[in-house]
Order: sequence, then structure tokens, then C-alpha cells
Amino acid sequence: MGETLLELRGVRQEYGAFVAIAGVDLAVRDGELVALVGPSGCGKSTLLRIATGLQRPTGGQVLYRGAPLEGVNPRAAIVFQTFALLPWLTVQANVELALEAAGVARAERARRAVAALDRVGLDGFESAYPRELSGGMRQKAGFARALVVEPELLCLDEPFSALDVLSAEALRGELVELWTSGTMSTRAALLVTHSIEEAVLLADRIVVMDTRPGRVVHDLSVQLPRPRGRHDPEVVTLVDRVYALMAGQTAPEHIEVGGAPGQGRLRALPHVAVSALAGLLEHLAQRPDRREDLYRLAADLHLDSAHLLALADAGEVLGLVSVGGGDAQLLPPGEAFAGADIQARKALFAERLRRLPLVGWLLALLHAADARRLERDVVEAALALDFPPGEARAQVDTLVRWCRYAELVAYDDRREAIYLEPAPAGG
Ligand code: ADP
Ligand code: MG
Repeated sequence: MGETLLELRGVRQEYGAFVAIAGVDLAVRDGELVALVGPSGCGKSTLLRIATGLQRPTGGQVLYRGAPLEGVNPRAAIVFQTFALLPWLTVQANVELALEAAGVARAERARRAVAALDRVGLDGFESAYPRELSGGMRQKAGFARALVVEPELLCLDEPFSALDVLSAEALRGELVELWTSGTMSTRAALLVTHSIEEAVLLADRIVVMDTRPGRVVHDLSVQLPRPRGRHDPEVVTLVDRVYALMAGQTAPEHIEVGGAPGQGRLRALPHVAVSALAGLLEHLAQRPDRREDLYRLAADLHLDSAHLLALADAGEVLGLVSVGGGDAQLLPPGEAFAGADIQARKALFAERLRRLPLVGWLLALLHAADARRLERDVVEAALALDFPPGEARAQVDTLVRWCRYAELVAYDDRREAIYLEPAPAGG
């Protein structure tokens, strides 16, 4: 284990009377890539600003190579979620800016900027303007601007989260390559991410923070060989472990968090549409005794048996119908649903859904997630512990469809992200 580069001792940050960070101890050693995860508002960004000297904490000590940090750390650089490139300067000039501030001579600036752009895969784009670049390429330019100063400590604040899935994946891969190539001057990295999977794929250590007040609650070492794949069993297991740590932490009291994926207790959701289920409930509500033979139901509703069984199963899972002896019996909540208007149906459906461990787990995760939003891939990876891959995907589809109907969650089709209403601005 390398020498300690950054050390935070009892770091505390107050904003007025509000304690944003209460006593964080954290050491980052030479050779380490440390991921920082935790719910929105737990102080991750604040901690990065403190680590780079951009902000002086109201309490505690910040040491760099054993010496107290005074002002901005010249050996650290930071990459933000979106990089503020100056639109009137070329990509190369934007990268050179970082060196200008450091007083590097013009010719040397140009040479180093070109090299940094080459390193992040932007060779050939030196004289392009930011508007001519895709989001992923702009973020690469941001990386180049951070790397050009040859920082020993690279701090990354959700560097991939503003990118589409593919660009994020590509840039993540390039970061891993750079990191493992040993050609960077960078000795250590501190990566803030809202993606647990990203943390597990990239980091040597995962530091889990919690909020109110912001503090470190777990510190896990990740001893998995690289490169790591998101479907590797060890990766999936660890992702789930971190989820479990985080979901247990911040789940609001009004949400039941039953079983989580990976405990072998999840019941599969039948893949049926809410409208079809409503049809079954309405039909049963018309029958004497609110009961009907399954075989008759299939005929009356013009459904094949597989579809009808799936509907009955859905009714059972949700506690709307009970099935036994070849009959389906409407239960009181099912009867209430059949007789309700659309808004009351949504509310009732939401109430039934919240009882499902799978839904409780998803909602708790979303509450704990930054911007109350999760990539569907992340949810799918967790469900892949309980279901085969194709089925995990189908489970997420049904889960999202049901929860959308109940207005428990919303879904961003373009970014394939699940989020809690209200939608974040710009999302
Ligand atoms: P994270 O990056 O984990 O989402 P932040 O570090 O951005 O968290 O913020 C931690 C807490 O401190 C939040 O509650 C935030 O509202 C608050 N906060 C951050 N910066 C300031 C500031 N300059 N003034 C007042 N409150 C702040
Ligand atoms: Mg932040």
C-alpha cells in the first residue's frame, strides 16, 4: 500500500447553522482509486472541493503528503459533471487555459495540450469548437483539461452522469485504460458517483456516505481483478451488497422495504398490462359471489390460458384476487378497484404495489439515489441475481410499467432512467 497522499481528519463543514459534513476521516493513498457514493446532499461535492483546496472546511484538517493544505492544491485537479468549456475558444485553447493559469510558457502549453487531447482520444479535434463536439467529446475535453496539469490527485465529481449510456461507458473504459496503463502522472483518484455499479467497476475502495449529517458510514475494499465486467458474478454480488448498505440506510419510514434482490425471496411479477388486469377485476365484480371458474373466465374474456393465468397471478401478487380450486375470487381491494374512478384506481394500485418487496426496494433505492434517479441498467443488474438475464429485463419492464401507472415512478425513455416524480429539471 502506497504512501498517504490526501488525508482528511475530522473534516467538518457547516453552512450557517446547517451541518453539511460532520467529522469525516478519509485517507487516499498512492495507487488508489477511491469511489465516494451516497445519497444526494450527503456532502460528496463539498468533500471534493475541500480535498482539492477549492474550499476550506469550517473544522478539521486537510493534509497533503503530510503537510497542511493551504489554498488550492496545485497537485490536484477536478473534473465536474459537465465541463464549462469556453465556447469562443478552440478545444486546444480551452485545455491550454489550465496551463496558462499555472504560468507555463506558450510552446510548452501547446505541446502538453495536444498530448493531453491525444491521451483522451481527441486527436484531430484540437481546432474544433466546443459546439462542434458531442457531449461525450466535450467531457473528454474536460478530462484533458484536468489531465494536462499532470495532477497527482485526480478528483472526479460524477464525471459520466451527464452523458448518454454509451458515451459514459466508453469514457469509463478509457479512464480505466489510462489508469491501468501507468502512463499518467496521476497517482490517486477520488471519484464521486451516483452509480454503485460504476463504483464497483472502477474503484479499489468504496466509501459510502450518509446524510443528515453528511458522514462516512462504510469503507469497503474492492479486491477484484481488472478489467471488470458488469455481469461478472463478483461485481454483481458487490453491487448488491452496496445497494443493501445504502437502501437500509436512508429508506423513509413510510416505505416497507421487504426483501431485496439476491436474497432468493423475490416473487416474479407476471407480465401483464394493468388494463388487462382491470378487465379481469371488472368482470369478476359482475359475477355472483365475485367468483368465477378460471376456465370460464378464459372463455368469457377471450384470453388464452397462459394469459389468464398470468392475470390471475398478478391479481394474487397484488392481493386483489385469490386463486384456488380452479376459481378466481375477487378480494375486497380488487372489488374497490373495479368500482373506482381512474384516480382512485391509481392510488389503490400504488398502495398495493408498495406492499411488494421488489417495489419497496426500488423506491428506497430511488430515494437514496442522487437526483432520485437510477439507470435502468443498475436495477436490471441487481435483479439479475434473482432472475435469468432476459427475465431480469422483463421484470424491470413490468415493474416500471406498473409503477408508472400508479404514478410511483416516472421513466425517461431516452436515457433509460427511472426516477421519482417530480422530474428533475432538464431530465
Ligand atoms: P452531494 O454532492 O453529496 O449531493 P453537496 O456537497 O453538494 O452534496 O451538498 C451537501 C449539503 O450541503 C447539501 O444539503 C447542500 O444543500 C448543502 N450545501 C452545499 N453547498 C452549500 C453552500 N454553498 N451553502 C449552503 N449549503 C450548501
Ligand atoms: Mg454533488
